[in-house]
Amino acid sequence: MLLGLLCPRRCPVCGDVVMPRGGYVCKECEDKVPYVKSPTCYRCGKEVDDERKEYCHDCSEGGFYYKRGVAPIRYNAVMKRAMEGFKYFNKREYADFFVEAVLERYKELIASWEADLVIPVPIHKSRLRQRGYNQAELLASRVSTGLGLEMRSDVLIRTKKTEVQNKLNDKERQKNIEEAFKINKNVVQSKRVVIIDDIYTTGSTINACAKVLKQAGAADVYCVCACIGAGY
Ligand SMILES: [Zn+2]
Ligand SMILES: [Zn+2]
Repeated sequence: MLLGLLCPRRCPVCGDVVMPRGGYVCKECEDKVPYVKSPTCYRCGKEVDDERKEYCHDCSEGGFYYKRGVAPIRYNAVMKRAMEGFKYFNKREYADFFVEAVLERYKELIASWEADLVIPVPIHKSRLRQRGYNQAELLASRVSTGLGLEMRSDVLIRTKKTEVQNKLNDKERQKNIEEAFKINKNVVQSKRVVIIDDIYTTGSTINACAKVLKQAGAADVYCVCACIGAGY
């Protein structure tokens, strides 16, 4: 309660203080949250423009190590700002908003995957020192609590700093990220794993994590992200 008074919860859309018990987004901003609409890509969960399409453009190429993924919110300019606050400006409370969106929409679907373990996409240890938290882990701990699953953040580690990739094309980005992850403790043998991240764009990060987990013997890998790009 005291903590709530000192650091009032802020709306991820407009940044204003939201009233206690008034939800995570202020009333005026509710309509501005771009929830993902059907139809969606069966692989990654992106919105697609034609319901006859099973997969989005990126997923139609194949080569995926994860089985299926979902994300509740489309990554647009409004969510870009929210994500920047969440990742870089210590707006850790936004995790509650994102995870509520995930669970409200996909709790049953994720439960149907019968996962054993929830694993956040790791950040490099120098970034962790700098930032003080891993935003994907904040999401993962809440998702795992909501689903009654175990979360492990010591299983997968990031051995390369790969966050500044904007200047690279898809191929270079893919190559750069492919060798960025390593298994630290192998507890994934024959396990079903759900990877959690903040934003899904091309899927190269999730896919690189999934590849490492599969190589370590994971039975199936799924992913859940807070925000996702569009598939057209
Ligand atoms: Zn607002
Ligand atoms: Zn897709």
